[in-house]
Amino acid sequence: MKFQELAKLFNALESTTKRLEMIDILSTFFKKIKETGDFKDLDKIIYLLQGQLVSNIKQFSKLGIAEKMIIEALSVHSGIDKKKIKEILIKIGDVGGAAEEILKKKKKQKSILDFNATDLGKQSLEIAELYSELEKIARSEGSGSQDVKLGILRGLMSKCSPLETKYLLRIITSTLRVGASTQTIIEGIALGFTGTKENRDIIERAFNLHPDLGDVTKLLAEKGIDAVKNIKITYGTPIRMMLASRVPYLEIPSRLGVPFVVEYKLDGERLQVHKVGDKIYLFSRILNDISNQYPDVCQVIRENVKAKRVIIEGEVVAMDTFYEKMLPFQELSKRRRKHDVEDVSKEIPVCLFAFDLLQHEDEPFIDYPLPKRRKKLEEIIEERDELRLVQSIKIESIEDLLNFFNKARNEGAEGIMAKSIKEDSIYQAGNRGFKWLKMKGLEGSKLKDTIDVVLVGANYGRGRRKGVYGTYLGAIYDPSTDSFLTFTRIASGWTDEIMEELMKKVKPIELSSKPKSVISDETPDTWLEPQIVIEIMGDEITVRDESYSLRFPVFKRFRADKGPKDITTLAEIKELYELQSG
Ligand code: AMP
Repeated sequence: MKFQELAKLFNALESTTKRLEMIDILSTFFKKIKETGDFKDLDKIIYLLQGQLVSNIKQFSKLGIAEKMIIEALSVHSGIDKKKIKEILIKIGDVGGAAEEILKKKKKQKSILDFNATDLGKQSLEIAELYSELEKIARSEGSGSQDVKLGILRGLMSKCSPLETKYLLRIITSTLRVGASTQTIIEGIALGFTGTKENRDIIERAFNLHPDLGDVTKLLAEKGIDAVKNIKITYGTPIRMMLASRVPYLEIPSRLGVPFVVEYKLDGERLQVHKVGDKIYLFSRILNDISNQYPDVCQVIRENVKAKRVIIEGEVVAMDTFYEKMLPFQELSKRRRKHDVEDVSKEIPVCLFAFDLLQHEDEPFIDYPLPKRRKKLEEIIEERDELRLVQSIKIESIEDLLNFFNKARNEGAEGIMAKSIKEDSIYQAGNRGFKWLKMKGLEGSKLKDTIDVVLVGANYGRGRRKGVYGTYLGAIYDPSTDSFLTFTRIASGWTDEIMEELMKKVKPIELSSKPKSVISDETPDTWLEPQIVIEIMGDEITVRDESYSLRFPVFKRFRADKGPKDITTLAEIKELYELQSG
């Protein structure tokens, strides 16, 4: 196919922002291709529509063409000096657009004066030829390569019209964006090749399992929709990863259904691991093969995963030298900067925390519910310092959710992941659905700041917390009356250790009656000398009969650096209340 056809398509797509129009333009284009029966360049067309030279799972070497070289080529090609070209480029801000403007003007002049410059606008470039020339550009290295690249570039330009040159240069500079999302392209493909948009889900699923839309489209054109339906997961080819959504944390239980499981949201790098005998592939979140970065992870998988062939996912996290403490992502990213990976793997030890299993031997697991996938994962992993299972805990309430969240934060996790365990809790490849919900803070809460309160009372807990205080009464300060106003009852956010620590702290300051400085209608099991300051988060400040309160308060940390009179004041609470309401 001629590159000119594609340039026209790009131009048509660029001239609209309406999705339906784009689908229409695309499907008409594909229908025509279907009629010709020539699908040779179809994959390349799809990649270019996606603004790429190849799919994420294939490699195309760097072209190594700097803007300077493009200006040079453009200058020779058009007969306009480089300074002028640079000026136009600065004005337009895009090499492709600048080239088009320059060449269009030149063409006009040429037809008036019969200007004897290079032939501007032959429109004879074939897509296959474009690719083979680009490959030559990428391959030429070393001394003299700049001249070779320049020569090829000029050759390509001489076969292009101004419109084609615009897109040619955008392709070369990786700035081609025609504005159609993958979703839109898929709908265009479905309509163009199968006559109905309804097949888009089949195409999308195939793309999620084999993330090369060029391959999928070619298969569709050549073999039909049933062949696409039958696309299976292949070892060595990454699957598009399932992602998590974010919702207000109070909605998590109702969104997932109770019970659900919670896991730490670890602060490392997502890895999709394909084990095929002794061959290990590690794929990154954007589906690059990064096996070379983690030879130690490959080795631990080889030795401690009991399956011939399996696909699992997890988060690789930097650890301290005793493999006890998780270190933040910055530590892990140091690995990328070092060249000698073998040495670095000793310097920056890592652990892979596995959390999912997508395929086991010949059996796909992605359509099984999470508990079934997790069970198989537990069966095949032999845990050790460098390979563990992500801790997964079943919970039912907001209070337990908040407690787990706090524990996770205290131990250096970014937050938590809450995951559905219902019958339909499948692995949604390539999707940011609502079966996995992430929680990094009190998202969705109206309260935009933390509040410091002083503890003035405590109540004994029930159940597991019998015998220790389970709820604490927190107060804010009113400097105008020099008194502490009870504000909220804090019952969650602490680990058992923190609870014990608190118990020890409050024992010596227990009072049998309300201190004069405290204004309150409450009757706690014990009153406390206003001394211990803690920082809390919460959902929303409420007001009733002029007294303020906080919904869903959660302990965040001790504020030993603050005295009771340094805490949040009544005036500040009023301000926060105004802020959240307005
Ligand atoms: P985000 O990038 O904020 O959308 O969060 C999703 C990312 O969290 C995933 O791609 C993983 O890299 C990471 N992650 C950390 N812990 C987990 C976990 N337990 N389950 C799933 N993803 C996790």
